[in-house]
Amino acid sequence: MSDEVQSRLMGTVNESEHTPAVDCYEGDPELLPVSEAWRRIESQSAPVSGQERVALRDALGRLLAEPIVSPMNVPGHTNSAMDGYALAAADLPAGGSLRLAVLGTAWAGRPFDDEATPGSAVRVMTGAVMPRGTDTVIMKEQVQEQRDDGGDTIIIGPDHHAGQNVRQAGEDIAIGDQVLCAGKRIMPAELGLLGSLGIAEVNVKRRLRVAFFSTGDELRSLGESLALGEVYDSNRYTLYGMLTRLGVDLIDLGVIRDEPDAVHAAFLEAARLGDAVISTGGASTGEADYIGETLARLGEVRFWRIAIRPGRPLAFGRVGDALFFGLPGNPVAVMVTFYQFVQPALLRMMGSNEAHPNATVRAICESSLRKKTGRVEIYRAILGQDAGGRPTVRSCGKPGSGLLHTMSDANCFIILPEDGDSVAPGAEVDVQPFFGLI
Ligand code: AMP
Ligand code: MG
Repeated sequence: MSDEVQSRLMGTVNESEHTPAVDCYEGDPELLPVSEAWRRIESQSAPVSGQERVALRDALGRLLAEPIVSPMNVPGHTNSAMDGYALAAADLPAGGSLRLAVLGTAWAGRPFDDEATPGSAVRVMTGAVMPRGTDTVIMKEQVQEQRDDGGDTIIIGPDHHAGQNVRQAGEDIAIGDQVLCAGKRIMPAELGLLGSLGIAEVNVKRRLRVAFFSTGDELRSLGESLALGEVYDSNRYTLYGMLTRLGVDLIDLGVIRDEPDAVHAAFLEAARLGDAVISTGGASTGEADYIGETLARLGEVRFWRIAIRPGRPLAFGRVGDALFFGLPGNPVAVMVTFYQFVQPALLRMMGSNEAHPNATVRAICESSLRKKTGRVEIYRAILGQDAGGRPTVRSCGKPGSGLLHTMSDANCFIILPEDGDSVAPGAEVDVQPFFGLI
């Protein structure tokens, strides 16, 4: 399902066709379909170059700069998967039972030095190298152990098969196998995998630099007092959180006043410092909104209005070598547009090999959701399950795009596609969960 949803939300976007720059900010008043917006963003967001070598622990969250080829077999030696007795398959009884002499013990990390002769067995612990002359292990619980003066013996019954309970050398990873590809994000499993191969350092892509600023005369920084009509700059903090989790280098340029010269200077500074630039606020066409016109003057506007709610004024283009995202000012719209457009674009620039990371699942909607056809609508919602264990989802209530606490209440987005209508309770909808196992 998720592929279908992604292609509906973002469009199928493999064409390399060049989109002509929209050089006039006033020239594109139509709402751009989300799929086309993503196509334009994708065609502009090429991976940046540069890499660095880091110690394994420091690679957590980073993206591999080159593939990892295994320098060894894992496991390195054929070994026992159980505590039990190793013997040659040729000695397994076809029917009835058989007594075998126990020659000694092989421990994990302490092999049995001799060869097992036919008609004998060696006691083995889980992880012990299989003694020479053996290829099969019988679980300790499945034999009768006997200790007497003539030495230890075991009696084994029928119904065993050759090679059972043995892990072959290279069964998990063979020497020369490519285990991880370039662009793979190092998560806990990858850390462990690299550790299992004895790899202490890896080459990772350099961190992307992202400069961001908030615009608005009404914005105050924390620690300042608020006069009538002023608000604290919260976008700076949500952006800080989202960008930090993504693993980029942040350049926080603070609050910029709604003045053409100030916005102009912020653009230039941000583009000089960052591979990507994000602004919030001032992206619509109000009298104090200077983002679109400054972008048009200094760089290229690729679009500035998308058929999505929340998030409609979203300016996208370039200033110098930097990719520019002019997000709306409303705090929820900032988060929605960041996750839907900016994060996937930044991941591409970082060199991630995930085509599009925003996975979706289907769930039964318990709320009734109003929807205008012709635009994608995104609701903040809570994913749960019904008594039968089926996924259900309900809206967080008020849809206002300034209500940041609804983002905090939510654990997912409901994504209603462009061509869909309003949703009645009981209908299935597409849901994007906020978190997986992290
Ligand atoms: P704008 O897009 O600039 O018209 O802003 C839309 C709404 O979002 C206004 O109510 C702003 O006060 C609010 N807003 C803009 N930027 C921020 C910010 N950084 N933090 C909190 N609210 C903001
Ligand atoms: Mg504003």
